[in-house]
Amino acid sequence: MAEALLIVEQLEVVYHRVVTAVQGVSLKVERGQIVALLGTNGAGKTTTLRAISGFIGLDDARVTQGSVVYKGERIENKPPYEVTARGIVLVPERQKVFENLTVAENLDANVTRATSAERRRLTESVYTYFPALARLKSREAGYLSGGERQMLGIGGALMCAPELLLVDELSLGLSPIMVEELMQRLRAIRSELGMTILLVEQNAQVALDIADHGYVIENGRLVLDGTPERLSSHADVREFYLGGGAARRSYRDVKQYRRSRRWYG
Ligand code: ATP
Repeated sequence: MAEALLIVEQLEVVYHRVVTAVQGVSLKVERGQIVALLGTNGAGKTTTLRAISGFIGLDDARVTQGSVVYKGERIENKPPYEVTARGIVLVPERQKVFENLTVAENLDANVTRATSAERRRLTESVYTYFPALARLKSREAGYLSGGERQMLGIGGALMCAPELLLVDELSLGLSPIMVEELMQRLRAIRSELGMTILLVEQNAQVALDIADHGYVIENGRLVLDGTPERLSSHADVREFYLGGGAARRSYRDVKQYRRSRRWYG
């Protein structure tokens, strides 16, 4: 079998040389897959994505143990521009846009070296997946809704023609209809462009709906992984991530409950 596109092994990330945010996290993303990384607030999902993309360096953090291997090469602690040049592009949580630039200008700002024909091709491709952006192309991005900003975030990433798209908390603060729409777009981008996607989500339901495989992390450690079917039928995932008792319990209750159980290994 071909080697996975991305292999993270025993990842440890430390902020400011003292705060260990992630410890012993391992995951694999096969080419063409959508993989979901699930967990509650502070579990270490964003840190893991930023470790893969190289952005943790900007937060005074480092991978202190383990490895991130992309297409057979070690990339942990490489700077973000080098990781991006290899084909990994991050859509960060609450994607920032250039508020005074139009939608079209924002998209264009993502591409540094490309012919105008190539820019046009990439822009048209973004508009195919997000027709709303085509309608809004002359609007200043500061006037976009939350969902439209997320579309622009993904669109900007597509302008870099990535092989591996890292998406952080797409669903944050959006209506269920908008979240469903964005997830369907990601599904289409995977199937039509053959893109591989690693998706970080607190909203386990929507992520497991489109994922081929899921990982659950808690307190910086991997606690469970499997197919969406396996995860959805797991009692703890049902209880704490897919409705169940989640609405009735505070996160503190969840943590206390977890301490009393061992899910993994
Ligand atoms: P959320 O869903 O709330 O964004 P998350 O699962 O993405 O949570 P992270 O943001 O990766 O979690 O945070 C993991 C841990 O790392 C937390 O304990 C957090 O306080 C810590 N952390 C995150 N960023 C920093 C930072 N810049 N400096 C110090 N600690 C940090």
